[in-house]
Amino acid sequence: MKLSSSKLNSNLPIVLELVDVVKSYTSGNTTFNALDGVSLKIYKGEFISITGPSGSGKSTLMHIIGLLDNPSSGQVLLEGQNISHLKETEMAKIRNVTLGFVFQQFNLLAKTSAVENVTLPLLYSDIPKSKHQALAVEMLTKVNLQDKLKNTPAQLSGGQQQRVAIARALINDPKIILADEPTGNLDSKSGKEIMALFHHLHENEGRTIVLVTHDLELAKQAQRIIIIKDGKIS
Ligand code: ADP
Ligand code: MG
Repeated sequence: MKLSSSKLNSNLPIVLELVDVVKSYTSGNTTFNALDGVSLKIYKGEFISITGPSGSGKSTLMHIIGLLDNPSSGQVLLEGQNISHLKETEMAKIRNVTLGFVFQQFNLLAKTSAVENVTLPLLYSDIPKSKHQALAVEMLTKVNLQDKLKNTPAQLSGGQQQRVAIARALINDPKIILADEPTGNLDSKSGKEIMALFHHLHENEGRTIVLVTHDLELAKQAQRIIIIKDGKIS
């Protein structure tokens, strides 16, 4: 961990803030808080990691930060605006233009070229269709896949597939890149390359990156580590 004090970030704008977020699940007559009063500020341009043991609430927190799920109570503020109570369709629109997702399983369309995979998030944007292809090529060049533009996922290694997913996450110029166990399906060499790419995007492009991982060693590479246990941040 290079920086540990949140004071270092306190002059930067807040991109996303959670205020006392509770997420509960009810089964039968018992209610269980998967998130139990989580407050968190994500500052523009920071690289933070969220880590904790299995079942601690990482994925639940990731879904709230990723605007994929609503909290049971508490607030989610995007650039200061409360978006906790928006309808799913409104949430989906904001999610598509605000966030870039990178998943453990890459989640690429199988029979579709790298270029086409990367253009997919643009379907929801205001960017004219005539510009999609060129933008996708630009993003794939950024992740050093300019010579694999036409390849389908089956014609790419795991590390290359994850780089396509990162290019896809970048194409809407997102406010936050959210990566959930992005190296979990990769060999250690490819995993290191993907982490190096995140560091590059953070340091050279000022990207805001949230890395969710159970792996403390990976988590330590971020500027700031959030540790979650039993649905609480310590
Ligand atoms: P992690 O990602 O850290 O492994 P999760 O966020 O997936 O943890 O889960 C946190 C807790 O919430 C776990 O006890 C899990 O069983 C529970 N949980 C997650 N999703 C649901 C759900 N849809 N219904 C009921 N319980 C859930
Ligand atoms: Mg999980």
